[in-house]
Amino acid sequence: MKIIKKIIMFLITLIPEFIRIWKLRNVKPIPDAEEPEESEPIGEPEEEVEIIEVEPEEEHNDEETIEPPQEEEKEAEQPIIPEEPKPAPEPPKQPLKLGKELLAFRNADLTKIDQLIKSYNHFNTKFEGITVHNNGNTTSTAWNDVSWALNNIGKANVSWHYSVDDKEVVRFLARRYNVSCWCSGDGARGFGNSKTINIEINEFNGFNNPNDPRYVKARQNAIYLIAQLCYDEGWTIQNIGRHFDRSGKNCPRVLMKYGWTQFLKEVEEHLNQLKARK
Ligand SMILES: [Zn+2]
Repeated sequence: MKIIKKIIMFLITLIPEFIRIWKLRNVKPIPDAEEPEESEPIGEPEEEVEIIEVEPEEEHNDEETIEPPQEEEKEAEQPIIPEEPKPAPEPPKQPLKLGKELLAFRNADLTKIDQLIKSYNHFNTKFEGITVHNNGNTTSTAWNDVSWALNNIGKANVSWHYSVDDKEVVRFLARRYNVSCWCSGDGARGFGNSKTINIEINEFNGFNNPNDPRYVKARQNAIYLIAQLCYDEGWTIQNIGRHFDRSGKNCPRVLMKYGWTQFLKEVEEHLNQLKARK
């Protein structure tokens, strides 16, 4: 028992020590005093927050870096746009052909023409308009018609200024230009014969088939020629007449059957194009 009492007594003597140690544990507020020091690191997290705020700026930078590629895409689309207008200015480079530029001219023999003028007593004049004809021959050409007239001086007793077919415009009396002719049936001093430029249009099968490509082309060439002459002389379609208007003959028979008014309208349209070019 004495040993037990000694152990108890020893433990009792240890109580104050336990109490001191216990108090020391409760005195942890002292280390809490060190918390302010830890609060400083709290400020660090704020700095970290600031850093985080900086990061979003970096994200903005990232967004800005994302935008440029979009601009590059736009820039990539832009070069496609200027390529389109490029072909547009090219067409103007091709000169617009009008009037005589669309025609092939061929001159009849001038020696024979002068021979004919002398033989038929044709005289110099001043033109005031145009008289239009169809040649009345479905198998001939412009060159053949003129050649026939020049090879039969004194027999054919006919003359005019131009012959037009699908291939060319043949200059007959037009080589002397201001000279009268025998073609309009109104006499040597008639208005048609002495005051107008007489033009023969080859009809081919136009009378029976106005869609014959040879006649369609001959008709178109006549439009170009007549518009050019009106332009050169300062005339309008009011200065254009038919053989019918000079002496009542059914001529130009194909144009009269298939649209004389339409023919004049197309001449006027081409004449307006000539006027608009300058
Ligand atoms: Zn006629």
